[in-house]
Formats: sequence, C-alpha cells, structure tokens
Amino acid sequence: MAHSIRLDPTPAQRDYFVRAAGTARRVWNWALAEWLHQAALGQKPNAMMLKKQFNAIKYTDPVWLDADGNPWLRSIHRDAHAQPFANLAKAWSRYFERCRTGERAYPPCFKKKGRCKDSFYLANDKFKLEECTAVLPKIGRVVLREALRWPGKILGASVSREADHWFLSVQVEVLEKAAIRRRTANGITGVDLGVSSAATLSGGEKITAPRPLRGALRRLRIRSRRLSRKLESAKVMIGIRGRVPKGTRLPVSKNRTKGAKALARLHTRVARVRRDFTHKLTARLCRENQAVGIEDLNVKGMLANVRLARAIADVGFFEIRRQLLYKALRFGTRIVLADRWYPSSKLCSTCGTRNGELTLDERTWTCASCGITHDRDVNAAVNLQRIASGALGTQSALPEASPTATSVLLPEYIR
Ligand SMILES: [Zn+2]
Repeated sequence: MAHSIRLDPTPAQRDYFVRAAGTARRVWNWALAEWLHQAALGQKPNAMMLKKQFNAIKYTDPVWLDADGNPWLRSIHRDAHAQPFANLAKAWSRYFERCRTGERAYPPCFKKKGRCKDSFYLANDKFKLEECTAVLPKIGRVVLREALRWPGKILGASVSREADHWFLSVQVEVLEKAAIRRRTANGITGVDLGVSSAATLSGGEKITAPRPLRGALRRLRIRSRRLSRKLESAKVMIGIRGRVPKGTRLPVSKNRTKGAKALARLHTRVARVRRDFTHKLTARLCRENQAVGIEDLNVKGMLANVRLARAIADVGFFEIRRQLLYKALRFGTRIVLADRWYPSSKLCSTCGTRNGELTLDERTWTCASCGITHDRDVNAAVNLQRIASGALGTQSALPEASPTATSVLLPEYIR
C-alpha cells in the first residue's frame, strides 16, 4: 500500500525536487525516442540495453552537460535517472498486454514540461524515515507533515508535485493482519449513486456530495480567462495570430506563471475536496456493513451524455466504486455489483413489478400494481440491498433477487 505524505521542503530542497523531476522527464523522453528509433530500424529495444547505452554517454554527451561543460546529472541522485527505463519497459508491456486483450490502449508518449506529472523515484535503501522527517539522498532532512501510517517493509518511494505542493509517496508491503480493519456494524446496505444526491442508502439516508466544482467553477472561469489573456498577449508579442505552430516557445512572463499557479491551485483544491468526500463515504460504507450492493454503472456511457457528464464527474462515481472495492478487503465487506442492465430504479421494491415507463427526471413514482409511492433513489437502493442480501444467501422477500449479480472480491484492487 502507498501512503502519500505532504512534504515541507526548504527552498533549496524544492529547487532540487524540480531539477530531479525534470531529469526524470528528460531521461524518459530520451529513452522513448531511442526506443522508437531502434524499433523503427527493426531492432528489439529493451530497458536494460537502453540504460547501458545511456550510462555510457550521460557524463560525456554535450546534451547532458551544463553551460560550463560539466555533467549536471552528477548533482541528481541516480535513482531519478535510472527509474525511467524501468517505467518505460512497464509502460510498453502494459500497452502490448492491452492490445492483446483488445482493451483500448495508448502507447507511452513523450512528457512535456508543465503538462506531465512531475515526479522522481527513490529506491528503498536510499532514504530513511524517522518519525516526521525523511532523510533523502543529496538533500538530507526533509520535514514531513505526518508520520508513515502503515507498518511494514518499505519497498520504495516517489516524490511528486501537485500544484506547488510536494508529496512523498511511500510504498509499503503491509502484512495482511496489519491491514485489516474492524467493522463497527454488520448491516446490509444498497447504495444508489446519483446526481441529485451523490449516494442514497437503502435505509433512506441521502448523502449529498460537496460540489466543489460547482462552487469553484466561476472562480475557475475567471482564472482561466485571465491566464488565456496572458497567453494571447504573449502571442502578440512575437507576432502570432491564431494557432501557435508546434515547437514555438512563447515568452513566459512572471504574471503568466503566477496566473498558471493560481489556476493549478484551484484545480487541486477541487480535487482534494472531492477526494476527502469519497474516502469518507466509502470508508463508512465498508465499516458499517457486511455487504454493500451497488450498481455496476456504465460510467463511460453516462459520461458521453454531455449534460450529465459534469455532474457525474464531479461526484466521481468511478472513484467511489474503485475505493469501495479495495477498502472492502480491509473490512472484510462484500461488495455486490448488480449487473449494469439490472433495472434497479424501475423495479418496485415492494412487489417486484417493473415500471417500464419510468423516465430519468421522475423523482417519485407510484407502482401500478401495488399502489405504493416510491422515492426513485431510495427504491433503487432497496433493490440493490436485496441483491446484496441475496448474494449473502439470506432470505430475500422478492423472487426478483437478481440472477445476474456478481459478487466481487478482487485482489488486484488492493493498492
Ligand atoms: Zn409495487
């Protein structure tokens, strides 16, 4: 498991992080270019050979020397420029694997400064953690905002940036026993994920998500407008109209950098509020239940519906499901996915009659055969609860307990 810990670096350490992440990016790009070149010549490139090739030139090739002719790679710890080769090999094998299984696959691509995630790697024997400090190679003690959460063998770590904050993500091998969490209750709950309220529980509780995006959207618009004005003026300065040709370097003003930072900060704030909410919701569901029934949503299909898309992405359906699946392992909770075609909102949870005419914007409806009026979301959640208890083998009041439900305990969801 990984624990990502916020760092409080000094300005000098911050500077080192930027340079180390930049090095990792440049080495990745070098390795990828060389890989593609060799592949185009009909050779079979591999990470080990490329690394050897790189090691032979990294202190002598003019590209890797600074203005005074000194190899600047010497000032960066070697893990930062050795790891990209392993990452690249992994990226290619993942790509070929996906091609083989017919999933949508994208080959590894070049990383662009400012557009990619800035990060670099540290092997487990190259750093030490002592309570709330980490001793890193080349820069020494860095202050951590909290101590490492998981006990266990440390496998490695990476340092990465999010807006202008730096994080140390420590990969820990946690013994099964240490990862187990105690449940506080043994309920069986169905959860209907929706737009108007993020989650409706079969007990009738409606949980609304903080809509960080909606609130921040106005601010986001203002800040990105400001930034694009600065971009436009940079274009005017070098006399470009319309599209910027590839490879052009626009002059970067102090104000444009500031504007970009402000925008990035807002984006990460939105992401953080959302993350906090989904973590608390999924942890609670797993803590309080022995089984949770959810819909196996066709999230991609729903996102294709533009009007719904922003609201759905804002609540983070996919992330909720992902977190439920891995947290369930820690709490020993069973997650039951209803088949994506299971009509959880259309079935009457009292008598099992199917209401085929139910439209998306009907929030309540009355069953034609038993006359009970349902809240749309609660009704769906109750149906999902029934599927969950059906999967546990307990008595189910309805014959409709889905034959299509799948119960999931997938080890590959452990993170
Ligand atoms: Zn009914």
